[in-house]
Amino acid sequence: AAKDAGRGCHRFFSRDMLEAAEDRRQLEHDMLDALDRGELEVNYQPLVVATTNQVAGFEALLRWNHPHRGRISPALFIPIAEETNLIARLGEWVLRQACMDAAQWPGDLRVAVNVSPIQFANPSLPQVVLNALASSGLRPDRLELEITESVFLDSSGEADRMFATLKKIGVRLALDDFGTGYSSLGYLKSAPFDKIKIDQSFVRGAADPASRNKAIITSIVALAEALGMDTTAEGIETVDQLDAMRELGVGLIQGYLYSLPVSAEAVANAVADGSWEIKPIGPAKQREH
Ligand code: C2E
Ligand code: MG
Ligand code: MG
Ligand code: MG
Repeated sequence: AAKDAGRGCHRFFSRDMLEAAEDRRQLEHDMLDALDRGELEVNYQPLVVATTNQVAGFEALLRWNHPHRGRISPALFIPIAEETNLIARLGEWVLRQACMDAAQWPGDLRVAVNVSPIQFANPSLPQVVLNALASSGLRPDRLELEITESVFLDSSGEADRMFATLKKIGVRLALDDFGTGYSSLGYLKSAPFDKIKIDQSFVRGAADPASRNKAIITSIVALAEALGMDTTAEGIETVDQLDAMRELGVGLIQGYLYSLPVSAEAVANAVADGSWEIKPIGPAKQREH
């Protein structure tokens, strides 16, 4: 095919592209052993109640500490894991790990775990979830599964059946990155979500009076309320953004303003001495007095 492409062939097989392909193959290869070599780690980021600043739980976020390359972003390696089907093993490991960690946390603190569309399409997911709950002893309603809109691209009804099975187990379901997918709103009619996570892209500039994001968030909150679902705003970095989210009635807040994702050990220490009650960050106006 390269020969047929004639003059253009060097464009298709440029040095950069060969290097990129080689790089990716190497990453794929390294990922096969990453789990066994203990290079993967689950970090946790607090989910904070907007009105009270109380921590309601933590989102589990996978980290890969590569021996030569340092920390690799899940935004880079999760897609590779999905294409190579390694996501099944990684996903199962994250679920187990997150449930075991959360089982040590006091009270009703929840753990939210991201579930890839590939995992979601696998009929074994309910069993994987049941196993993680059983081996950790975590109460099902303390586990929240975060799923993106892309699972609705398959309209064969498989998604609905999977939702029903997971709800029967008693876990909570959150719709992640809401507003960034291609799906229609129709799926919200029947899908039994407990929570909608408003994507960071809507949070950007939401504190700006001229921004249209405010109107979009207002309508997402109204929609969620009407359907009996909670809301979380992702990526809150400034006090102004926090104030805007509170004003708009968003239920939970997640973002660097409160905390970066931190190690399981850091969470365990913080929950043990009560400091997981996040330092109150009052609304900006209040803080000035
Ligand atoms: P996500 O599920 O939407 O997770 C939220 C992302 O936003 C995380 O990125 C988090 O670190 C980041 N974030 C949190 N607060 C802020 C903030 O204030 N500002 C900014 N700019 N970013 C913030 P991260 O950890 O790099 O993960 C990226 C994506 O990778 C996740 O997006 C999720 O889709 C995927 N991912 C991470 N861990 C897992 C996993 O265990 N399984 C699966 N299937 N996907 C995962
Ligand atoms: Mg998520
Ligand atoms: Mg998200
Ligand atoms: Mg995201």
